[in-house]
Amino acid sequence: MLSSKFIDKIVIAVDGYSSCGKSTLAKAIARRIGIKYIDSGAMYRAVTLFFLQNNIDIPQPEEIELLQTNDYNELLNNIFIEFKLNTTTRQSEIYLNDVLVENQIREMIVSENVSHVSAIKEVRMRMVTIQQEYGRLGGIIMDGRDIGTTVFPNAELKIFMTADVNIRAQRRYNEMINKGISISYEQVLNNLQSRDYEDSHRSESPLRMAADAILLDNSNINEEEQVQFVLSLIENLSIEQKVF
Ligand code: C5P
Repeated sequence: MLSSKFIDKIVIAVDGYSSCGKSTLAKAIARRIGIKYIDSGAMYRAVTLFFLQNNIDIPQPEEIELLQTNDYNELLNNIFIEFKLNTTTRQSEIYLNDVLVENQIREMIVSENVSHVSAIKEVRMRMVTIQQEYGRLGGIIMDGRDIGTTVFPNAELKIFMTADVNIRAQRRYNEMINKGISISYEQVLNNLQSRDYEDSHRSESPLRMAADAILLDNSNINEEEQVQFVLSLIENLSIEQKVF
């Protein structure tokens, strides 16, 4: 039995490659143990949408190192990101400058540009500050790429997710086709591979597994098995907590 005092304060970081099912798992854990869930990728996607909507130049990976610092700070002052609970679906949804953008941020044009935008130092600094504020009181699970390494280096539990890239691409492709989005499997696969590459090779908090993270390869395990695995890790943590 998990102590509610322990759960109220817990911070769980879920990182990993694109389309590994990080948010599905994190949402399920949040529901089961009654903590907040924050999708940090949605925040980088919302910033990217802002860049696209306002025709702001998006630097290519080779241009990133040449950018002057503070180039983006003024611009970032015009971006207000917020999560609000949809009382019908009980899901939290993201708003960009008071406009609900939950669907728009999942469009392919955003997926194709988000890794470039998220490599910008000022963008990362701003997002990390907001994310840390969300986690200040604990009782949170956040998924992303640098949660266990940069945002919450002292998280009680860190999970790093991976899966075979073809399995990930097939899952994402099926999801998009079911939503009525017209796309080819190759497009989805290319996007996953290029995002993984860029996210792992940028200089600002690149995607990597924290030394104290637990690896979860979900190529061949279903959602409920993943949830049970993480719940057992939380249960063990809470036992350790009681012992010390
Ligand atoms: O999680 P999702 O696939 O929606 O994230 C979209 C993109 O946002 C990632 O490919 C990555 O470029 C960026 N991201 C990041 N750091 C995070 C979360 C996401 O750089 N913590």
